[in-house]
Amino acid sequence: MATGVNAIVLPLGMPALTTAEKSRRSYLKNAEKRREGAKSARLRLKNLVLSHYSGGEPECACCGIARLVFLTIDHVGGGGGDHRRTLSGKNYGGTGGAAVYLWLKREGFPAGFRVLCFNCNHAAHVNGGECGCQEG
Ligand SMILES: [Zn+2]
Ligand SMILES: [Zn+2]
Repeated sequence: MATGVNAIVLPLGMPALTTAEKSRRSYLKNAEKRREGAKSARLRLKNLVLSHYSGGEPECACCGIARLVFLTIDHVGGGGGDHRRTLSGKNYGGTGGAAVYLWLKREGFPAGFRVLCFNCNHAAHVNGGECGCQEG
C-alpha cells in the first residue's frame, strides 16, 4: 500500500500555471506589444508625413537637420486658425502632435506646410517668420 508520503507527491510535468495566471501573463505580454505597436505606428505616420513635405528624407527646411525626433510640421506663414479649428487635437501650434499628422494624411497632404526642426520652428515664430539660423 502507498505510504502517506507518496500520496501527497504531485505528478511531475503537469502545467503549473492556473488558467488565471496564464491569461494574466498573456495580457501583460500583449500590453507590451500594444505599447510598442502604438509607438512605432506614430513614428511611421510622422515619417510618412514629413517625408512628403521634405520631398524625400525628412529634414528641416531651414537648417537641414535630419533627425526625425527634432522635426515637426510648420504651418507656413504661421496663423493656421482654420486648421486649428479643424483639428480636434488641442495641442496644435507648432509641436506637431499626432493629430496633425493624421489630419494632414487624411486631407491628402495639403499645401502650406513645411518641415522644420523645433529650434527653427520656434525661432521663426519668435522672429516673425524668419528663423535667422542661416545668417552670419
Ligand atoms: Zn532647423
Ligand atoms: Zn533655422
